[in-house]
Amino acid sequence: MSVLIFVDIAEDGSVKKSSLEALTYGAQLASQLGTEARGIVLAPVNEDLSALGKYGVSTVHQVKNEALKHFDAQLYTKVIAQAAEQTGATVIVFSHNSDGKAIAPRLSARLKAGLAAGAVALPDTTSGFTVKKSVFSGKAFANITITTPVKILSLNPNAFKIETGEGIAEVSDLSINVDVPKVKVTQVKKQSGEVPLAEAEIVVSGGRGLKGPENWGILEDLAKELHAALACSRPVADAHWRPHNEHVGQTGGAIAPNLYIAVGISGAIQHLAGVNRSKVIVVINKDPEAPFFKAADYGIVGDLFDVIPKFTEAVKQLK
Ligand SMILES: Cc1cc2nc3c(=O)[nH]c(=O)nc-3n(C[C@H](O)[C@H](O)[C@H](O)COP(=O)(O)OP(=O)(O)OC[C@H]3O[C@@H](n4cnc5c(N)ncnc54)[C@H](O)[C@@H]3O)c2cc1C
Repeated sequence: MSVLIFVDIAEDGSVKKSSLEALTYGAQLASQLGTEARGIVLAPVNEDLSALGKYGVSTVHQVKNEALKHFDAQLYTKVIAQAAEQTGATVIVFSHNSDGKAIAPRLSARLKAGLAAGAVALPDTTSGFTVKKSVFSGKAFANITITTPVKILSLNPNAFKIETGEGIAEVSDLSINVDVPKVKVTQVKKQSGEVPLAEAEIVVSGGRGLKGPENWGILEDLAKELHAALACSRPVADAHWRPHNEHVGQTGGAIAPNLYIAVGISGAIQHLAGVNRSKVIVVINKDPEAPFFKAADYGIVGDLFDVIPKFTEAVKQLK
């Protein structure tokens, strides 16, 4: 019996922040269960994996195979299923990010293991195994009891604090049969110079209040100063003012940055559904009655074309 944590690797070979949260979570769960935590890495990595021991894992297993270079949910699922069997893992932890969302349900079907997707806290293991997860786009919580021998969890990004200690992990190669991928990656286009939205600590987001794509420069300037990612409301993406990968909300991406700055966005429930897990929300809107103010931690009532340049200047001064 052990806890196995999937370590997600970014395109640049670094360990994703959401995986550091999953490692801390998995390690604390393992100590709660009186067992050990291990990580598993499939993609090529640029970091010293033994350093992941500081998040509480005793071992980091690595599967080195050219076929695993690019993320492939089907292939990764098969490899993790074999790794779980080889290592005797009874709990498998993912981050509830795009990779985790693609693998965890497949693995659940393959291993006939119960899955709690979007966990927000450590399971209650006093009698059984009950996981608190967010439901209805973060509007409510559900407690899910998993009764299968093998259990799978995916942890909501930004729901669990990363904690570090002194440990050094043993790094060991796992020998696993890797199928020939059914999907062939012919080209990878990297978005250079931009902060990826899903991983961003700070997000600057624009709505229809910006009036048109030609005005996005003021948000880009602010985002650059704050080292933030850009996002937008759905009508903005629908009107092709911004690319669809920036659209957040019920039908777009769901994000949970530490700081979400909403500029010229009314705050419709469909928009809030994707951003209401943000730690701090700042709303800038000229309409004091805009619904977004009800969800805001801080609000500025004013014309964004006056406020944003001053905001950017103030950030520059602070630096
Ligand atoms: C099934 C369904 C799914 C949906 N999914 C999503 C989704 O995933 N994401 C999403 O965002 N929406 C979604 N929507 C649309 C959603 O209901 C809203 O229509 C949308 O979020 C509004 O976008 P907005 O706030 O940019 O525009 P608007 O509602 O037009 O608001 C613009 C805001 O800008 C303010 N403003 C204008 N000028 C200025 C200025 N100069 N300075 C400061 N403020 C100014 C206005 O006061 C206003 O509050 C969905 C709708 C449906 C029906």
